[in-house]
Amino acid sequence: MPDVFADLVGQDDVVDALRRAAASAAAVLRGAAAAHAAATAGPVDPDDADALAAEAEAEATEGAGGADQESGMTHAWILTGPPGSGRSVAARAFAAALQCRRGTGCGECQGCHTTLAGTHADVRLVVPEGLSIGVGEMRALVLRAASTPSGGRWQVVIVSDADRLTEAAGNALLKAVEEPPPRTVFLLCAPSTHPDDVSVTIRSRCRVLSLRQPAPEAVAEVLVRRDGVAPDVARWAAAAAQGHVGRARRLAGDPEARSRRDAVLAVPRRLTGVGAAFDAASALIEAAEAEAEAAVTESDAAERAALQTALGAGGTGRGAAGAMRGAAGQLKELEKRQKSRATRAQRDALDRALVDLAGFYRDALTAALRAPVAPVHTDTAALAEAGAQRWDAEGSLRRLEAVVECRAAIEANVKPRIAVEAMMLTLWKG
Ligand SMILES: [Zn+2]
Repeated sequence: MPDVFADLVGQDDVVDALRRAAASAAAVLRGAAAAHAAATAGPVDPDDADALAAEAEAEATEGAGGADQESGMTHAWILTGPPGSGRSVAARAFAAALQCRRGTGCGECQGCHTTLAGTHADVRLVVPEGLSIGVGEMRALVLRAASTPSGGRWQVVIVSDADRLTEAAGNALLKAVEEPPPRTVFLLCAPSTHPDDVSVTIRSRCRVLSLRQPAPEAVAEVLVRRDGVAPDVARWAAAAAQGHVGRARRLAGDPEARSRRDAVLAVPRRLTGVGAAFDAASALIEAAEAEAEAAVTESDAAERAALQTALGAGGTGRGAAGAMRGAAGQLKELEKRQKSRATRAQRDALDRALVDLAGFYRDALTAALRAPVAPVHTDTAALAEAGAQRWDAEGSLRRLEAVVECRAAIEANVKPRIAVEAMMLTLWKG
């Protein structure tokens, strides 16, 4: 039976560090339990008493928020790594190991199971639905995280996109991280520890573990082993996904994801003039919108229905008018949240397309340089080669840069259509 860390692909160093920390966390709990037993049961064997005192001291250190240097267990962690490298997988696995009854992340006990399934009472996951995590959400979370863990182990708070915290939310979190309740562990996931992603003060309070972009071979191996994907499909998908494990799995198993990718990779061929460049920009934006809408429509409707039921829509009688006004406010709030989530889904879909496109021009560049590296997109390698002949290394690089700049511009809140149109013109003209 594979343990909770089995899904982390190609991250041996991080897994080692997390295993050691989980073992030391388990030792802290055992020490606390033994100290408690000793305190309530009267005299103990003097040999044990020393050990217990040491354990109790270790816990006191933990309680004060200090890191135990040898084992590396501490109250606040930042897990960084490129998208798809498994930041949130690592966070969830570590949470499971902390809640594991055997203290190892066995993958079999109830603590492991419920954590991985997302139903453990002492593990809270914050996933920003919109563009950022607000202060209200963070305050509520910090407050609940300070309570005694109901399972008797740890309160774990996972913030899946810590780079999307608003400044106020970051401050609320900082306060908790500065003076952590003795049994609370914060796991923050972010692309990097750059100050744009995580504030310097939060960074200084956390232990940082960096995940790497896993090698395509490692990603292909896990697709074959865990998902039963045929080896040749797995190799193609792993290369095309550029180290993004979830993306590789979708490409291998979801025909729609494949046809969306095909449409994106047809763009370079279609750029035959100004008009074609603008058409390609429209097509790319609209495809991202359609993909995002498909992703959120169902949950939007379900949320709206649930809220209307909860508000008792259609009620009459005394107080109904006032209740209706309150209900309208709540519905408006929900719509705002949903709109923000839709915008994020669109940007994510567009970003995936841009990453695919960047892979194509990267292939053209490596072909022009005759670099001995495998292409990202094996199925368009011949096309990239033809591009390289026309554009040379310099022209290929300019086009690759145009895609990179487009991603950066959208991240910096430039209107996507404007950024994509500018990119397409460069991709056409060079
Ligand atoms: Zn377990």
